[in-house]
Amino acid sequence: MSKHVVVIGGGVAGLEAAGWLAKAGFDVSLVEKEETTGGHINNWFKLFPDRRVSGEVKKYLDGISINDRVKLLTGTTLTEFSRNSDHFRLITNHGKELKADAVIVATGFDLFNSARKEEYGYGIYDNVISSADLEKMFRNGLITMADGNVPKKIGMVHCVGSRDEKVGNLFCSKLCCVTAVKQAIEIKENIPESKVFCFYMDMRMGGAHYEELYREAQEKWGVSFIRGKVSEAGETINHRIVVKVEDTLAGRPLKMELDLLVLMAGMEMSKDGRRVAELAGLRTGDNRYFAPEDHHFGANVSNIEGVFYAGTCTAPMNITETISHSRAAVAEVTEYLKSGLD
Ligand code: SF4
Repeated sequence: MSKHVVVIGGGVAGLEAAGWLAKAGFDVSLVEKEETTGGHINNWFKLFPDRRVSGEVKKYLDGISINDRVKLLTGTTLTEFSRNSDHFRLITNHGKELKADAVIVATGFDLFNSARKEEYGYGIYDNVISSADLEKMFRNGLITMADGNVPKKIGMVHCVGSRDEKVGNLFCSKLCCVTAVKQAIEIKENIPESKVFCFYMDMRMGGAHYEELYREAQEKWGVSFIRGKVSEAGETINHRIVVKVEDTLAGRPLKMELDLLVLMAGMEMSKDGRRVAELAGLRTGDNRYFAPEDHHFGANVSNIEGVFYAGTCTAPMNITETISHSRAAVAEVTEYLKSGLD
């Protein structure tokens, strides 16, 4: 008899896992809280490092997950999660009962809410935006200030909500440096006469072709990288943004007026993930992400037998890593259900 697996979350990790579970011959219920699948990828225009249009990745994920074996439940969350002898019993917000032989949690991440860093003025000054807001502008093909004018001097603040004791996130989100580099290049492509400044603490470009992209930003596009932490942002009477930075390479404080300030928001465990953790009794770590049983040999394995993790619900990951992690989760499920048949 076919086994049934519930996948919680219909973003990149969940869609990939659902598709591969179906290929392996399992019946799948894919539970997604939103009305559409895809998660954050729907909000991104182009991806690093090759600036592939995100819609291509979504098309691939739809191709793999739209399958007779995959039952998609959108607008759905879980209200109960329990284990009865050899199967799981999950109840949805619509009162539907799902019986599962195994569960993959793929609840992804939330982008850090930049308003929590009050000193940068997000939600206070109109010309302070987040990296996600900028991505929307790329998608619409128009980069503007609040008054509709084209910005000529743009600053980008790294590490917003990451590596920051004040907000309780000591970890590095891993992808915001390369996102800043990608977005800086895209600004220059759209507004060649603009000046772009990235304010960083460290450049962490540890992915395939990231370093090359960083070099391209400097050599081809003339993006300026200033090593220093922005201490605060203020606004002038004509709505320009003033930042104060300690330039740690030059060893002097810096004050700069900008047309637009972009905050590179980090990644956090999603609210939905926290809810599922509580509901199911899944263990989380100091960083509040789900805590896998072993970082080397059990990165997909949870503290509950038969429940596995896929993707960024365990740590910040790029799309390539998320897809690999999801496929590994499917391998774990296959092994688990196979041994269950012995
Ligand atoms: S990737 Fe870069 S911007 Fe993001 S948290 Fe790490 S060091 Fe900061």
